[in-house]
Amino acid sequence: MTLRVYNTLTRKKEEFVPIEPGKVKMYVCGPTVYNYIHIGNGRPVIFFDVVRRYLETQKYEVTYITNFTDVDDKMIRKAEELAVTVPELAKTFIQAFLDDVKTLGVHDATLNPRVTENIQEIIDFIAALVEKDFAYEARGDVYYRTSKFTEYGKLSNQNLEELQYGIRIEVDDRKESPQDFVLWKAAKPGEIYWDSPWGQGRPGWHIECSAMVRKYLGETIDIHGGGQDLTFPHHECEIAQTEAVTGHPMANYWLHNAFLNIDNEKMSKSLGNGILIRDLVKQIKPQVFRFFMLSAHYRNPLNFSDESLKQASNALERIQNAYDNLKHRLATASATSEIESVLTDRLAAIANQFDDKMNDDFNTPDAITAVFDLVAEANLYLQQERVNAVALQLFLDQLQAFDQTLGILSQQTDELLDEEIEQLIIERTESRKSKNWARADEIRDLLTEKGIFLEDTPQGIRWRRK
Ligand code: AMP
Ligand code: ZN
Repeated sequence: MTLRVYNTLTRKKEEFVPIEPGKVKMYVCGPTVYNYIHIGNGRPVIFFDVVRRYLETQKYEVTYITNFTDVDDKMIRKAEELAVTVPELAKTFIQAFLDDVKTLGVHDATLNPRVTENIQEIIDFIAALVEKDFAYEARGDVYYRTSKFTEYGKLSNQNLEELQYGIRIEVDDRKESPQDFVLWKAAKPGEIYWDSPWGQGRPGWHIECSAMVRKYLGETIDIHGGGQDLTFPHHECEIAQTEAVTGHPMANYWLHNAFLNIDNEKMSKSLGNGILIRDLVKQIKPQVFRFFMLSAHYRNPLNFSDESLKQASNALERIQNAYDNLKHRLATASATSEIESVLTDRLAAIANQFDDKMNDDFNTPDAITAVFDLVAEANLYLQQERVNAVALQLFLDQLQAFDQTLGILSQQTDELLDEEIEQLIIERTESRKSKNWARADEIRDLLTEKGIFLEDTPQGIRWRRK
């Protein structure tokens, strides 16, 4: 089974071959930290977390880097609005981002580098571009000379002439050509700045990723990701910067997620229909949102609505119930016999089905179908009166293995729920009636272990917690 991924650069699904066997270097463009993240931002965050988790289940050692843009025009404007400094603003929203993504079950990145911690590397990168004539200074600004990079437009599949039509002509006599983009911006009075060979200023947006990718991961990386709106101009510019300096491809595979819409409309500030992750998780379980995100292929648009969330919630409940039931039965089951090979074969087939789908460009909706096949088998098995602990454990192990990739299950505490206790008491009474003393004792021991005391009363058995 080989992994195939759709590469935006070649517009084809390609076999994934890492640069170094067994290792994956991936970089995903992170947020500008001037606001709380909204549910649309959740899509790349969750999808690339799943990519990383899946690669890890395939025994790859993954280095996962995602940056914070902690200084730019939006940051400066917002800091002014709130009457705080840019670093203060960044601190607040970096923490908010980290809290939000943790709530969504996203694993910590290997590193979250920030622009302000990499200014020297950024300046060095720009200096190298100037040195090679790929960049020029103009009154304290530095611009990238797009006409010199003959492959400009290769990622977004446009040539320079086509690009010219798309660009709003700005009255900016500093640029040689309208497609040229800023690498270093001269500071206006009162703005945050760093000293540079071109005077006081700050980095443009695109250059930070080129500098950080090279510093933390190297000249060529395996996977570079982000939302599809980043293809142009951001990623196109990153390629132009990096490849002009290094002469090597910046990334072998470029992955872009499609957009999340709300009620079939684009989410936008002007429509006022954005929903923050932190507000959403007050209404629904974060796992439901994760499941919902993974219920569509990442390259297809996904529509967020009450209806689609409800469906996700119901579907996830079926998986969670099977998981809880397996655990519940396992607590009191004994290993009665060897399990049949029919069952192990079936479980292996379902596991393969899951991997096949994930290997097909991370087809999570089809991989989830394999999870439901497992749930159906587990439910069938659970209908039996006598269950074997070994088989229950196999079902559980497989569900947990899938969940290492998907991260959609809630872990319950070890504590027994009231209804579980009552169910066990009924089972114990029945076991005694049928003179199954071993089972009755087993249940009594389990309850004692969990701190539940039984008392025989004329009205029947009463129970209480220690
Ligand atoms: P931004 O909010 O523009 O800083 O975007 C941060 C990340 O979220 C980028 O990878 C964007 O492509 C992505 N993103 C923003 N809005 C959406 C959306 N509605 N659906 C999917 N991804 C989005
Ligand atoms: Zn970037």
